[in-house]
Amino acid sequence: MGFRFSQALIRWSKHYGRQGLPWQGQRDPYAIWVSEIMLQQTQVSTVMERYPQFMRQFPTVKALAKADLDEVMALWSGLGYYSRARNLHRCAQQIMAEYAGQFPNSAQELEKLPGIGRSTAGAIAAFAFEERAPILDANVKRVISRFFGITGDQQNHKTVQLLWEHATALLPKSKSQMPFYTQALMDFGATWCTPKNAKCQSQDQTCPMMSECKAYELGQVDRIPAKKKKKQSPTFTTNIFLIRYQDEILLERRPPKAIWGGLYSLIETPWQSIDQKLNCSKPMDIAGLLHQTILSNKLSKGNIGSIASIEEGHVIEHIFSHRRLRMQPWIIHLKRKWPHSSAALDWICTRRLKEYGLPQPIRVFLESSSR
Ligand code: SF4
Repeated sequence: MGFRFSQALIRWSKHYGRQGLPWQGQRDPYAIWVSEIMLQQTQVSTVMERYPQFMRQFPTVKALAKADLDEVMALWSGLGYYSRARNLHRCAQQIMAEYAGQFPNSAQELEKLPGIGRSTAGAIAAFAFEERAPILDANVKRVISRFFGITGDQQNHKTVQLLWEHATALLPKSKSQMPFYTQALMDFGATWCTPKNAKCQSQDQTCPMMSECKAYELGQVDRIPAKKKKKQSPTFTTNIFLIRYQDEILLERRPPKAIWGGLYSLIETPWQSIDQKLNCSKPMDIAGLLHQTILSNKLSKGNIGSIASIEEGHVIEHIFSHRRLRMQPWIIHLKRKWPHSSAALDWICTRRLKEYGLPQPIRVFLESSSR
């Protein structure tokens, strides 16, 4: 290609690339890996705050592998997409057990590890080992689609394959340029060729790719990539029970594969879609509902008699990426502590909540209820 995309991008990054990100310039695959995983689905400003904290607590792959999963989940609290934290922990243990604590040094091997997809493997290999491995996250997909004028559906396997081919063909020839090029491409997608108001559409119309960019030439920048049709997110409701005895509360560890998997939360009723409304506004009904919930959580039904009072809390709304959840809290004050025989349940002192991984809306609710 007469126009050298990679060289234009590297030159661009010297003036306009992002500076001062705590993971920039890293060559340690562990540090790169943690930043790449944290940056998936999380804003850079949040990662800038949370990444140094994570690295202080788990400075090496060995430290992370040795940690208790609860400790990792607690540190991940509020970042969402908790399977990332579980996979980090599992992957660290696998690297210790199968690779003697050394990260595999090729994208192909890295991709075999839990939670590492092809693009993340490419980023780690490019930054840490200068491998000529492409990346293709959402920002890069947009840049390449626009540059080549690819209008196909980005979920389509053939379109994705075509994007990978272009991403590979655009790589610089020299391995030593890979870390700079990969960082430049990430910066360019995040700050220049943005979903809305790409720089070439601004008043000063500055972009080093303008002379070759197909989307720009065709006046299609705002139409490429094709927008996904937005589906209406379904709404679910549940009742959550804050069961208190003095300064202790009863928490339940969620199953690993569920939403908020592996985190501690409140005992809840099964989620129901909003059109199957629960009829549970009266305290009598709540006692019945609680009774059923108690039985399904291996608590003795005799416990019902030790309820001192039931208080209704304000509804909590939480929006996930593909659904909404409306939680109706019920605060149950007990006259005596309930024994239980479930390994998933635990009485926890409210002063120790910070040590547990909790879903963010539950943490906010518990902190406000404990004041
Ligand atoms: S010319 Fe516009 S659309 Fe093309 S790469 Fe530059 S900013 Fe993106």
